[in-house]
Amino acid sequence: MKKISINTKEKYDVLIGKNILGELGSYTLEIFAPCKLCIITDDTVNLLYGDSVFDILSNSGFDVYRYSFSPGEVSKSLDTYGKCLEFLAEKKFSRTDGIIGLGGGVAGDLTGFIASTYLRGIKYIQVPTTLLAAVDSSVGGKTGINLSQGKNLAGTFWQPSLVFCDTTTFKTLSDEIFLDGVAEAIKYGIILNKNLFEKIYTDAPITASYDKLEDIIYSCIKLKADLVTEDERDTGIRQLLNLGHTFGHAIEKCSNYTISVQGHGKYPTYQVIMNPAITVSGVENEALKWQYEYYVNQIREMDLFIKDLTETLAKYDEKVVLVMYGDHLPALEMKASDMKSGSLYQTEYVIWSNFGMQKKDENLTSYQLGAEVLDRLGIHEGTLTRFHQTNKDPLTYKNELQTLEYDMLYGSKFVYSGVSPFMPTNMKMGVRPITISKVVEIMGKFYLKGENFTEYSKVSLGKDVLKTIYLSPTVLGLLEEVKPADVSKMKVSQVEKNKEEILSTTE
Ligand code: NAD
Repeated sequence: MKKISINTKEKYDVLIGKNILGELGSYTLEIFAPCKLCIITDDTVNLLYGDSVFDILSNSGFDVYRYSFSPGEVSKSLDTYGKCLEFLAEKKFSRTDGIIGLGGGVAGDLTGFIASTYLRGIKYIQVPTTLLAAVDSSVGGKTGINLSQGKNLAGTFWQPSLVFCDTTTFKTLSDEIFLDGVAEAIKYGIILNKNLFEKIYTDAPITASYDKLEDIIYSCIKLKADLVTEDERDTGIRQLLNLGHTFGHAIEKCSNYTISVQGHGKYPTYQVIMNPAITVSGVENEALKWQYEYYVNQIREMDLFIKDLTETLAKYDEKVVLVMYGDHLPALEMKASDMKSGSLYQTEYVIWSNFGMQKKDENLTSYQLGAEVLDRLGIHEGTLTRFHQTNKDPLTYKNELQTLEYDMLYGSKFVYSGVSPFMPTNMKMGVRPITISKVVEIMGKFYLKGENFTEYSKVSLGKDVLKTIYLSPTVLGLLEEVKPADVSKMKVSQVEKNKEEILSTTE
């Protein structure tokens, strides 16, 4: 185990090691006499490590509580902050009790802010489980939450009493999140230490070897320790650590902390936008209200985007036609009777041009739209365009299309004057093939690493489907105990919503 002492006004240690989580209890006892401890974590980390940390601390004589929130940046909010403070108050936490921030930078920043403000400040321990949190956010005492006006706008400086980092926990990180941490490590290299930069570069990909992680984390924290000690309040040299933050914060703010375009899929059932331009009321079901609010505000943003787009295109010195139409509605329990048009499937479309195309109101089926615009522009290229320009009768459309399809695929290919211009390819439709590269055991639980896992991936052993947690396209966790001998017999299947297996790996 490696140790770095941070010499801020309140001194504390950072401990880094492999497989050291079991020792968390004894180190916690050096900070707190047996008392109440609340683990603050997100739902994913809770599923992965919550029970172990809970048991380790309970076995060391602490009275342990747990507060877990939805994973991700959206939870670094006033809402989660408030709920967590109320949870502590409800459980009657006093000034001699403590908090354990278990997770990535989100859990860490939130925990620090809660610790610094609950009862005007109580002690806390950081247990980082992402590489980013280990090399950066868990050390230095910067705490904070986001406001709708921007990132980290409310926060404090409040040093933890201990940072306890078990690098084994990084094995369940998705490659993406792991690489976020690598980027932070590279940042230290760029601003402070050429050797570290070169080391990361030459050891790349460091994902290949977890053995090097302890060294890299150690080097990063050592560098951060010097800056933090010299400039605890971030008014001078510590600002070097903010390299790249201004751009990053601006991008996150502009994307409501999510990168998303209007989807058909799931909408958040909790509050995401704190001060929305449009608020929704009158929906009895709270979850549905937040979904609607998110949806309508996205539509508003789309409107603003269209305004920008058309203003920009209007200045183009070549002719532009823009065709806009609504795709199907999201799953928001809408009924035909709720719609102004009386139909869930009717949508307005708009054709815009920068050269004054003649305006015309028409009722078209969606498949005719593209062909209609091209027709008006005098363009008649392409088999389907021509088909749609000449077969406008909805009663015969389907039959005619089937005849065309048959002719193109199996018939005499009249449409191509007898010779198909297309060559067959090896392209396969459907889900991507799953591979399992290895099965790792971490604290008695098994994790499958591989490729192309999805939320619908299921692990089975013989006829039994095992409970699984989807962590990322490259990591699946098993929530059930399995005998080590059975591990090699497991199979991962992609399961459709109707639960039928559609593709599986080797057993
Ligand atoms: P995060 O805390 O949201 O974690 C990323 C994802 O990884 C989450 O979905 C989480 O559930 C999951 N996860 C965490 N540990 C895991 C594990 N061991 N296995 C599998 N999944 C795991 O985000 P992050 O990238 O760790 O941190 C980003 C936050 O850190 C930002 O809010 C940023 O502002 C903050 N930050 C703070 C400082 C500081 O000095 N206070 C410095 C840098 C960044």
